[in-house]
This record gives sequence, C-alpha cells and structure tokens, in this order.
Amino acid sequence: MNSNLYFAPSASILPMVIFKKIQDIQPYLSAQKAAGRGIGFVPTMGALHAGHRSLVEKSCAEGLFTVASIFINPTQFNDKEDLAKYPVTTEADIAMLIEAGCDALFLPGVEEMYPGGSDTVQTYDFGYLETVLEGAQRPGHFKGVGQVVGRLLDIVRPGRIFMGQKDYQQCMVIKSLLQQMPGGDKVEMVMCPIVREADGLAMSSRNRRLTEPQRAIAGTIYQCLVSIQGKKGNGNFAVVKKECEDLLSDKGFIPEYVALANADTLALLDDYNDSAPMVALIAARLGNVRLIDNILLT
Ligand code: AMP
Repeated sequence: MNSNLYFAPSASILPMVIFKKIQDIQPYLSAQKAAGRGIGFVPTMGALHAGHRSLVEKSCAEGLFTVASIFINPTQFNDKEDLAKYPVTTEADIAMLIEAGCDALFLPGVEEMYPGGSDTVQTYDFGYLETVLEGAQRPGHFKGVGQVVGRLLDIVRPGRIFMGQKDYQQCMVIKSLLQQMPGGDKVEMVMCPIVREADGLAMSSRNRRLTEPQRAIAGTIYQCLVSIQGKKGNGNFAVVKKECEDLLSDKGFIPEYVALANADTLALLDDYNDSAPMVALIAARLGNVRLIDNILLT
C-alpha cells in the first residue's frame, strides 16, 4: 500500500482513513472529538474474521466513531515461532473493516509503536492474573498485552474499548490496566460475546493454521465447555474435568488446562460453587496450534 488513504469501492460506503503515523491520527481524532463524536476503539493483530468484525459493528451500532488498529505486537509473543507464523492478511482486513463500517484504521509499524525499543515503553503489573492459566502458560504475555494496549490507548484516547470474551483473562487484564493507567478511568471496556463457527469452534486468527483433519475435531473444545456448563447443577467438577481431558487427549489434543474459576477474580475453583459467577476455561494444543476458549456459567 503506497497511500495512507483507502477509499471504499462503492460510493455508498463512507471512506475509511488509514493512518500509519501517530502524528497524523492524533489531530484527526481530536477533530472528531471536537465535533462531538465519541470514539470507539477495537485493537487487533489483524487476520480479521467475523469475531473481530462483531466488535467493530458493536462500536458502530453504539454510534461511536470507530477506530480499529492492526499491530502484531512482538512483546506479547512468548513463542517466537508463533510470532513468525502469525498470519498477515492486510488487504482483506481493510476490506472487512470498510464493510463493517469502521471509520479509521491505525496501522503502525514496530518503529512507530516502540521508537526507542520496547524497553522504553511503560509496562504494568497485573499480579495474580500474570501467574494463572494463560499467565502461567505464556510467561510475559500479559506484560506485553498491557504494554501495547496502554500505548494504543494513549494514542487513540477512546471513550470505549471493545474486547472479545474469547480472551477472557485478557479482558480482566485490560480492566486492571484501565484502573492503573492515567486517564484509564475515562475509558469503558465493553466485553463482546464469542463468535463461533457452526461446530462451536471459537473463531481465531490461528484457526487458519489448522489442517483439515485438525479442523474437523477442533470443535471438541466447545463441546467440553458445554458439558462443563451442563453439569453445573449436579456435577462434580473433578470428574467432568477428567472426562474433558481424556476426550481431548483421545482426539489428539494436548490439553494445557481445563479449569473452573470465579468469573470476577479468576480464583481457581475445585468444584462448582453457586455463590459467585463462574467461568470455565480451556487451552489445548492441536499440532502446533494453540487454541483457547471459555464459557460463562450463568
Ligand atoms: P486478536 O487480533 O486476536 O488480538 O483479537 C483482537 C480482539 O478480537 C480481541 O479483543 C479478541 O478477544 C477479539 N476476538 C478474537 N476472536 C474473537 C471471537 N471469536 N469472538 C469475539 N471476539 C473475538
């Protein structure tokens, strides 16, 4: 792409403006705010699918001037191979964002985000959240997520940030980030429902790396979550957890965790406990693709 401007092919759709530089997007967004528009922000790493699209559509439906970002943030990848293989589909992403009604796209390079190197950009401490489940399996991941989202929020300064429940623990990290960062109290995080394929597989940019046979069984994770939810009334979580781990292993997954937690604190639960909202979470590897999913037990 040579130009910073990309206009929709159809005259009936308003153009989406693409910015690569902070010095260009900031005055543009300030002008929108001065004109009385609220800003909705959807940060992504690209390789967009209907899950991402739902976040953009939600922001637009709330009448917000909607800004998406695409930035594959190196500081949140604990696995270098995962970073190297992360899909890049920028042209298709742009087309999808325009169709979804997105108003502006921020598409920075690493230099723009971390001009003095990532060590010079503020990080935050998420305490317990960095030590459990995704935090335990992916050391440093949430430090990187907090760092990049903090930086993006400083640049975009939205009133609302739209995040997917698909990354439940990440939503909790962003809530904590908003409590910690200056001006974070002026931003509301909106957690949006998980968009799934017909067989229940949570949409993910990494799904496109699944082989056909892997894809055919990938919906098993969702089946496990549904069975954990279904046995809430009369079940023993230790038994259901073992059934899920066995089923996943039999199908060829390597389960990393099958967990039940307090949905507000993410404190792990040994058994169902109706006194607080609960969330069940699963992470499992299928070949070299790592899949995560969760379900609220309401
Ligand atoms: P990513 O590009 O993977 O960093 O995701 C960007 C945003 O899209 C995050 O807030 C994700 O939680 C959200 N997201 C990813 N997959 C889905 C999905 N299947 N349904 C809803 N939101 C999603």
